[in-house]
Amino acid sequence: MPELSADLYGTVSHKLDALQPSGIREFNKEVSKIPGIIKLTLGEPDMATPEHVKQAAIRSIEEDDSHYAPQMGKPELLEAISDYIQNTRDVHYDPQTEIIATVGATEALDATLFAILNTGDKVVVPTPIFSLYFPLIEMTGATVVQVDTSADNFVLTPEKLEEVLEEEGKGVKAVILNYPSNPTGREYPQEVLAGLAEVIKKHHLYAIADEIYSELVYGVEHYSIATMIPERTIFISGLSKSHAMTGYRLGYVAAPAKIMANISKMHAFLVTTVTNNVQVAAAEALTNGLDDPLEFRKIYQHRRDLLVTGLKELGFEMLTPEGAFYLFAKIPTQFGTDDVAFAKQLAKEAKVGVTPGSAFGKGGDGYVRLSYASSDENLTEAIKRIGEFLDHLA
Ligand code: PMP
Repeated sequence: MPELSADLYGTVSHKLDALQPSGIREFNKEVSKIPGIIKLTLGEPDMATPEHVKQAAIRSIEEDDSHYAPQMGKPELLEAISDYIQNTRDVHYDPQTEIIATVGATEALDATLFAILNTGDKVVVPTPIFSLYFPLIEMTGATVVQVDTSADNFVLTPEKLEEVLEEEGKGVKAVILNYPSNPTGREYPQEVLAGLAEVIKKHHLYAIADEIYSELVYGVEHYSIATMIPERTIFISGLSKSHAMTGYRLGYVAAPAKIMANISKMHAFLVTTVTNNVQVAAAEALTNGLDDPLEFRKIYQHRRDLLVTGLKELGFEMLTPEGAFYLFAKIPTQFGTDDVAFAKQLAKEAKVGVTPGSAFGKGGDGYVRLSYASSDENLTEAIKRIGEFLDHLA
């Protein structure tokens, strides 16, 4: 292919050009080139999708389920999502007007943010957090208000939110909450969510709740802001993590009908609708596979304990993650606070890939994120290598 014609250089979207691709994926790409590396970089379950879910997808193909599905999603899937939310959050979403199936939680976020934001709006994003929110918000012409939560054990408190809203004045339209959190593994306690719900209501904001990890919690209860303020919550989740289905690409959004009409419109512009057999597999997972995540939970909890114990013995400080499959550890002070340099050196010399904390926004520098969606053997070997690396550095 000849190079792009010279008269077209510089004519691509300036808005897009100015945005940075995900630091997590970029870093993963870089460390993937190192032979023999153990990668604890990505949030990707290493388990297989449950057999009955796979069979449902295969059946759908064999039955020639090959025409466009309804724009919002297949009725059986939307009903399964509605039942799931009703049973776990005690909120009723009408499957015909208040839920859409999306291409992963990623498209759920794309469609939601483009559906509600205008140029000049502001969105409060408590950090460190999953960094995809940043470029999406900026693409809409809105701005990100990063709120560093590292001094509050990585939880946005109602007091802090009040303070930020006061400082920002008018223009804040929404708050993004992701719990259990990527990258910190923190859950939001019920009373904190209730306090945030009050503030959000008082200031007439949207709560965008990304609860994609809610099935993976360890010894704590998951509460949802959707239960508290359904009339102003946009609820986002998906099956990537709970059912080890990252490659299927199935997420969903639930929101009051008036907001959903706009989200669904954007969804049609983006993708028309979701792949049929993926929707059938997801309906099966949510109808007959509600216990599948329990098995995964046990495995992740064991791995979490292994990694927490191992890293603490090496001098890392951290809060024990309560959910998801990430651990956010402070680099021991004698090794400095440059998390990017530390992660690079660790990858090169110890052959262990971790993600620098600063990839997750304000308050992440000096930390590294380790994903424990990896085998016991890998985790044990990674701890050993990190130990030898630190001994060598000291
Ligand atoms: N939200 C969070 C917090 C995530 O960590 C991820 C995936 N890493 C997503 C959304 C996107 O999920 P999906 O694969 O379903 O698009």
